[in-house]
Amino acid sequence: MHLLLIGPPGSGKGTQAHKLSTLFDLEHISTGGLLRHNPNLTDEQKEIINSGNLIPDEMMLEIVKAKIHSTHKKGWILDGFPRTKNQATLLSSILDEKKITIIYLDVDKNELLERITGRISCQNCGTVYHKQTKPPIKNGVCDECGGHLEHRADDNQKTLTHRLETYYIHTEPVINYYKEKNLLHSVPSSNSHSIEEVFERIKKILKR
Ligand code: AMP
Repeated sequence: MHLLLIGPPGSGKGTQAHKLSTLFDLEHISTGGLLRHNPNLTDEQKEIINSGNLIPDEMMLEIVKAKIHSTHKKGWILDGFPRTKNQATLLSSILDEKKITIIYLDVDKNELLERITGRISCQNCGTVYHKQTKPPIKNGVCDECGGHLEHRADDNQKTLTHRLETYYIHTEPVINYYKEKNLLHSVPSSNSHSIEEVFERIKKILKR
């Protein structure tokens, strides 16, 4: 099983990818996570991430390719890639797009800021929490693995506005790219749909 999750920051890609990877034994490839945990990042690359800009396409493709080829799991979920139309084209040069299930998490723009500024995630297993809507049982500690919960450096109001602009300029064309090829499954994911509801919708798509 091979999956792409596309959506704006705060759309729930990380949460859904975590649930799906656990259920189907898939490698969760979060490109943002791989970058944040990469000890070899240069100061320039850290600055790109912390300001909400994008890392060059070719570097991202190499990171993704290496991860896809090294996994021993039954498949993978790509969370955060492709993020530009050029990345989508590069991906199509190494994989058959028709063999990938492409899911777009469709969230009302107005909900994203609140979702992201309250977000905290486990540094160990990646489980995502929200200070108001999905708090952990014990402050700062992951319910699932006991790992340490942290607020991401780029999850602040100032950077977020720019990350959303970057998303609408560079990533929205990726949605149209797959839509035009009839490969896009759109899943409504605004606050009126619970995490479980979204999860069930995705599972239904995967069963088809
Ligand atoms: P994310 O965790 O997916 O929100 O990604 C955090 C940051 O990592 C983004 O704001 C970008 O700076 C960088 N990043 C993650 N994935 C990509 C990608 N596919 N292309 C370029 N930059 C990326």
